[in-house]
Amino acid sequence: MAQTIAALSTAPGGAIGIVRISGDAAESCLRALFTPVGSRDLQPRVLTYGVLTVHGRVIDRPMAVFFPAPATYTGEPMAEIHCHGSSAVLQAVLSALFDLGARQAEPGEFTRRAFLNGKLDLFAAEAVGDLVTAHSEQAAALAVSQLGGHMSTEFADMRQRLIAVCAQFLAVIDYPDEEIEDLPLTEIGQTLSDMRARLNALHESYSRGRALREGLPCAIIGRPNAGKSTLLNALLGYDRAIVTDIAGTTRDTVEETLCLGGLVLRLQDTAGLRETDDPVEKIGVSRARDAVRHAAESGVVLAVFDGSKPVGGEDRMVMREAKNAARAVAILNKADLLRAEGWEELSDCFRAVVPLSAKHREGLSELTDTLLTLTGVRDLPSDGGLITNIRQAETLKRTAERLELAAEHLKAGFSPDAVVYDIEGAIESLGELTGQSVQNDIVDHIFANFCVGK
Ligand code: GDP
Repeated sequence: MAQTIAALSTAPGGAIGIVRISGDAAESCLRALFTPVGSRDLQPRVLTYGVLTVHGRVIDRPMAVFFPAPATYTGEPMAEIHCHGSSAVLQAVLSALFDLGARQAEPGEFTRRAFLNGKLDLFAAEAVGDLVTAHSEQAAALAVSQLGGHMSTEFADMRQRLIAVCAQFLAVIDYPDEEIEDLPLTEIGQTLSDMRARLNALHESYSRGRALREGLPCAIIGRPNAGKSTLLNALLGYDRAIVTDIAGTTRDTVEETLCLGGLVLRLQDTAGLRETDDPVEKIGVSRARDAVRHAAESGVVLAVFDGSKPVGGEDRMVMREAKNAARAVAILNKADLLRAEGWEELSDCFRAVVPLSAKHREGLSELTDTLLTLTGVRDLPSDGGLITNIRQAETLKRTAERLELAAEHLKAGFSPDAVVYDIEGAIESLGELTGQSVQNDIVDHIFANFCVGK
């Protein structure tokens, strides 16, 4: 018996609010509150217009639908009521459903039930969460392709192949007539090392996947008056960039977010970098350095230079700050007034130098192009073969390590049980990826990060 759950699945404040119900009593709960208008009764999977009555009072004229199991999102009977978006109406509907025995759904509980009922594997369930929170078209496209199951099928297939390899070794262990030399050892070794290479490549794709999903921290640095604010405004205006406030999952601060051609940059406001004796400005400069350090480690540094003036000491300081960044772009601003003195040295410190005029909005598309190439967001695999979360990345790494051990032990002539032990470890961790063998607390953790109603 699946206890019936209900939740508001749309964000508050919209014109329409959808209440979702899942569980054995979904249809009866709906029928207790909703009466179709006209002669037709509610039909499965047909959105129907009617009246919603709570305690004898008509509180809305919504559309409603029910879906018989098992062909539903959760695999259980489900229903939806598409009300008008009034929070009073939606609260009344939910209260009435709770009076009928349903309970408030927990975060991610609909998707969790879909997972438990075999509708989605864990990898695809995580893609659902990514899709709901995607901040760029590319991130959404990646989540959709992962939801399509291509990767899930690949992992399930790898797992099956490993199980088959294990079975071959177990035959040697269980039947003394069989000799290990009789096994196609070269072929098996090749299979293990091909798989390991694929898993390592996927593990390495995590930094790109993360950039796409969460965005990259980005610091715009440069000496005062280099044109940082003008550049920021130009970027915001240029690409019809979305500026949103994303409360970070691991950060307490709220950041401004800029979306450039699919690349999400989490901008950190920085004060101009320069030596100063002013105590207040010193704090600003020190914060700017922290922001640069963070962006330098895992994000993008945009170093802005004033090309209308010769290179100065403060510019060299900015070059030094940006030098250790994994991805730093030098922006030679005020290209409309460019003076040639000394700017060639930028190419020694930066992988990319983009001349532009922030004020006249010239050269911005070249900057976007450079950033997309630098971060690898331009060439996304179409099969969703990009890892977007740390759990998946760590699991892939663990699996690859176990396969590496298996291959080494095989090559070194270890006994079959030693090889089987390593391969079984790899099978286990591949199962964690798709949810075939995963501990409950990990599942709890994954779904706790979902929103209520999904
Ligand atoms: P910040 O202190 O680095 O944020 O610099 P601002 O963005 O405030 O710009 C300083 C000055 O440079 C302003 O007067 C801007 O209008 C001017 N400026 C910025 N970008 C350009 C540019 O591309 N060309 C020209 N000619 N002036 C610019």
